[in-house]
Amino acid sequence: MGFAATVLTLYPEMFPGSLGVSLAGKALEAGTWSLEARNIRDFATDKHRMVDDTPAGGGPGMVMKPDVLASAIDAASPEGDLRPRLLMSPRGKPLTQERVRELAAGPGAVILCGRFEGVDERVITRRGLQEVSIGDYVLSGGELGALVLLDAVVRLLPGVMGHAESGSSESFEQGLLEYPQYTRPREFEGEEIPAVLLSGDHQAIARWKQAQSERITAERRPDLLAKGAKKP
Ligand code: SAH
Repeated sequence: MGFAATVLTLYPEMFPGSLGVSLAGKALEAGTWSLEARNIRDFATDKHRMVDDTPAGGGPGMVMKPDVLASAIDAASPEGDLRPRLLMSPRGKPLTQERVRELAAGPGAVILCGRFEGVDERVITRRGLQEVSIGDYVLSGGELGALVLLDAVVRLLPGVMGHAESGSSESFEQGLLEYPQYTRPREFEGEEIPAVLLSGDHQAIARWKQAQSERITAERRPDLLAKGAKKP
């Protein structure tokens, strides 16, 4: 029951990490989702428990071995497992809120975390791994990427966030960035909360929020507007 995450990693001690606290941690304890971190090294077969080897054709660093990774994947995700198999990778499709929503609506995910220079290409194709990137920069391993992806997914699971609505007005959910937020005190260092927010006029407030979202998106992320942000 719930969203089932299996992470394949050389550093299982990195999990649940940040996902063990706050909303995600409470949801984990409550069984809204589950997390299993499996050590890839347990699937190495030689006496040195090797998980990587030198790159064919030369080049820097080491490459994770396909046979060891395939055994780890097959054990974690036997035939009939409907969960997508993801490989954290800077070459992957950039993670978006839309993808996060799709994942949150599904049964879970099996997430392979790379290390070293990456993984043997044959295991990517033969095990149907979908490469996912968390941005155009290079991490030293996929673990932080997996934590980022799972954090984004778990907060969307039913019952995790107090207000169901607090998901829908957020940045990216309407294709726009969020409007500015204020809370008490009414005056801070001489600056007042915008009067419209205190007016009690719900229509005026909604118009103000929409206009602010559009302004901030145009200023900071015109690429999002070009993609066709939804009007309310
Ligand atoms: N040689 C690779 C980089 C390897 S970095 C290349 O040039 O593409 C080592 C591992 O870190 C990768 O296998 C991947 O699992 C993870 N990683 C690095 N950057 C990432 C990113 N932007 N998104 C997701 N995973 C990333």
